[in-house]
Amino acid sequence: MANNDVVPMIAPSSGVHIVLPDYYSPEGMGLIVPKTKDGRVVFMLPWLGRTVAGTTDSSTAITMLPEPHEDEIQFILDAICDYLNVQVRRSDVLSAWSGIRPLAMDPSAKNTESISRDHVVFEDYPGLITITGGKWTTYRSMAEDAVNAAIRSGNLKPANGCVTDHLHIVGAYGWDPASFTVLAQNYKRMKKTYGGKVIPGAMDSAVSKHLSHAYGTLAERVAAIAQNEGLGKRLAHGYPFLEAEVAYCARHEYCESAVDFVARRCRLAFLDTDAAGRALPRIIEILASEHKWDKARRKLEQQKGIEFLETFKSSKNAQFRDGKHNGQ
Ligand SMILES: Cc1cc2nc3c(=O)[nH]c(=O)nc-3n(C[C@H](O)[C@H](O)[C@H](O)COP(=O)(O)OP(=O)(O)OC[C@H]3O[C@@H](n4cnc5c(N)ncnc54)[C@H](O)[C@@H]3O)c2cc1C
Repeated sequence: MANNDVVPMIAPSSGVHIVLPDYYSPEGMGLIVPKTKDGRVVFMLPWLGRTVAGTTDSSTAITMLPEPHEDEIQFILDAICDYLNVQVRRSDVLSAWSGIRPLAMDPSAKNTESISRDHVVFEDYPGLITITGGKWTTYRSMAEDAVNAAIRSGNLKPANGCVTDHLHIVGAYGWDPASFTVLAQNYKRMKKTYGGKVIPGAMDSAVSKHLSHAYGTLAERVAAIAQNEGLGKRLAHGYPFLEAEVAYCARHEYCESAVDFVARRCRLAFLDTDAAGRALPRIIEILASEHKWDKARRKLEQQKGIEFLETFKSSKNAQFRDGKHNGQ
């Protein structure tokens, strides 16, 4: 904004992750190899009832729907196989995706060695503060550094020091690790049978744990929708995501598209691409009833959902074009 000839401030780097069944990682235990035989980092961690493994780190162009390459997926599989007694097969991959890290580059530096894993804050024009790079785990310190830079730049006199350390996230006030028990005790999942009858079902602990961890104390609101509106069915077999979450996210969390729900509100696209594809029509049906979508919009959502899920390379979506892999 300050300078038309500005030099790039970020170096985009592609990172591929894959998801495998739960039996590759015991609960609560992860594996990290800081240096593989070719000098890279790989890890396997339990994640939302499955196993996530990664990652790669290569410079890339910025695209809206990045896709993982088959050789990147194979690199991760080969690297983790070196540390396990069992063979990890391409056909075990439930989902694989590529994300683009916006690594920070100091615009005043002369070489790419200034590329940083951390965030960089600078004032490139008096009064214009820029923050680039950063990580999910450091978002509070990113916010603190950016606000402090603005305070210095504007010579402001803040009434108090930084409060981010003590701020809770939404749903955290009053939350307790045992909150899921109360949820399971107090709510039923009223669900519609295929014949259209609404019948009560117990809220099992996988569902109540998921709701409690995802929504904190607000899980009660989701559970109330499941109980009172007959939206207590699971969206996908084997996963704890409920129909009620779609309605809740549409009403209270600005969820405006099926892709948004399947990728970010619940993580089904990342956990199991095929299961996400099967859940898509029901997600669209609930969103359509919440947002009063017409037939054309529903069709568009289905089409966009399929296009999006095709960028995830589960074993079903895999392209074995290089002839190296046979999916076994
Ligand atoms: C491959 C990879 C690996 C990573 N590994 C780690 C790690 O190990 N540890 C770590 O701490 N961090 C890691 N990160 C970084 C971490 O993912 C990000 O720091 C974090 O997701 C940033 O969160 P955010 O909410 O600020 O932004 P985002 O997660 O990017 O969320 C922004 C959201 O806004 C939406 N959006 C954008 N524009 C609009 C618009 N105009 N209208 C509506 N919606 C919009 C986007 O679709 C997106 O959903 C990694 C990132 C990548 C890509």
